[in-house]
This record gives sequence, C-alpha cells and structure tokens, in this order.
Amino acid sequence: MANKEVFKGVNSIKFNQRFKDDNDCLIYLSYIKWDGGYECKRCGNEKFSSGKKPHNRRCTKCNYDESPTVGTLFEKLKFPVLIAFHIVFKISTKKKGMSSLELSREFELRQKTCWSFKEKIQQAMSSSLKHPIDGTVHVDEFMIGGPEEGKRGRSKGDKKLIVLAVEILDDGVGRAYAEMIEHASARELGAFLRKHVSKKATIITDEWRGYSPLKKEFPNLKQVPSKSGKNFKDLHIHIMNIKGWLRGIHHHCSKERMQNYLDEYHFRYNRRSNMDTIFNLLLKRMVNYSKNPELTVAT
Ligand SMILES: [Zn+2]
Repeated sequence: MANKEVFKGVNSIKFNQRFKDDNDCLIYLSYIKWDGGYECKRCGNEKFSSGKKPHNRRCTKCNYDESPTVGTLFEKLKFPVLIAFHIVFKISTKKKGMSSLELSREFELRQKTCWSFKEKIQQAMSSSLKHPIDGTVHVDEFMIGGPEEGKRGRSKGDKKLIVLAVEILDDGVGRAYAEMIEHASARELGAFLRKHVSKKATIITDEWRGYSPLKKEFPNLKQVPSKSGKNFKDLHIHIMNIKGWLRGIHHHCSKERMQNYLDEYHFRYNRRSNMDTIFNLLLKRMVNYSKNPELTVAT
C-alpha cells in the first residue's frame, strides 16, 4: 500500500527513500491532483476506475483516461519524472536554489532542458497575492545591471528597475516582495503596492515624488528622508542579498526572466521558517498551476 502521507522536510536521505522511481512520483502527484476528490475533466462525472496505468483515473461514464501529469507543469517532460522531483526538491530546499548550469551537471541533462523546466518551476513560485502585508512595510526601488547602478533611472537596455517591499517586524524582517517596473512612477508603484500591501498598512518610503500621490489610497503612507539608506537598513540588506544571489549563480539574467528570478527568490525567502512543507507546497502549485490572470504577476 502506497504511502499517502505528505512528504515533509529537507532531508535528502528520506527523500530518496520515499521517491525511488517514476512510479512513486506519479502516485504522489495523483494524490495531490485528486486531493479534493475526482471529477472528470470531460463530463464532470465523479466516479472513476483505474486507467491504462495504475496511477491514471478513467471516467466510468465517458471513459476519459487521465494521467496525474496532464494539465500540470509536469506534462510532456523531456526526462523522467523522478528527476523532475529531484530538481523541485533541490530548488525548494537549497537556500540559494540551483542554476540551470548546476542542474545540468548534476542530472546530466542539457542546460536548455533544465532552463525551460526551471522556468516552469519559477512560474509556480510567483506570489498568490492572497496575503498582502498589513503591518509596517518599507518600500524602495533599486537598479540591477547596466553600467552604473544608480537610482530612479528607468529600465532601459540591460538595466532593470525593481521595486521592493519588506515587512518590518518587532524582531526583524518578515515577508518581502519585489517586482520589475519600467518607471518609478506613481502609476507603477501604486500597482505594485495594491498587489502586495494592504490599504491599512504603515508604509514607509523615502521622499521620492512617485509615492506622494499614493497617500490618498494608502492613508498610512509616510515619507521620510532616506539618509543614504540609514532609515531603511533592513531593506538595503535585502537588496544586497538579492544582488549577491543573482551575481553568484545567475551570471546574466535577461529582462524577460528577471521577474521569474525575483519570484523564485521571494518564494523561498517568505517560507524560510516553513521549510518542512516548502517542497510539497511547490509540487501542489505545479500540479494546480493555471494561467489565471489573477494569479500571474503582470509587469
Ligand atoms: Zn467523463
């Protein structure tokens, strides 16, 4: 009888014991996929018998035979699903994740194959937008790439302008969110805040004029002098960490992929105290992933 328990933790020995072959992984995916009960995708019938393969389900009315991977981000993999599980495990549980180059070496796959699978994983790592920060939050923008990493320019050429919100707790830093924007304008800064910060939150920014018009919508938005970042210490440490991570394993990150990397970074960061369930959560996101515009962070 297969083990129905959720896999917890970051221990690779336990991981290897639990997931020994493709079959173990497919069974696990089928539990996730039909966790809320089975319903035929074609006709809505709720009864099934076993399909062509033991982990498939076949509708008793219309005979539609559904695999656990169809319609998920595990569909049409170019390598065994066991390897996909290993990659998802590493990317979710290693503090810095893994680059496509590292993945290609470790799993003996083409780098391009790793690169495109990693892009799928990153899609599942984007914010659900369900938990806006509602306490105290510091917000600022910064530049990545380009000859001089100045402030308040615009995303141009290879330069990427990022806006970042960091939740400030009594005993340190809570969650954080970042998004690539074109201009540090009230329109774009407002769109970012609406996604990730509650209207009642205490928002602290520097004196940049892009934030001023947003005080109508966010009544607790306060602007204070930056004092070369001294008033935003945690936020600036966070910026340095993002930059260090990008430099360290992702030598070059294109503008098109930048948001994916920001999402990857913050998916792990925001769950650094929930490492027990991070792998299972990411699998769930990948199984239930849909291109719902509400869930996709548009830039
Ligand atoms: Zn059916």
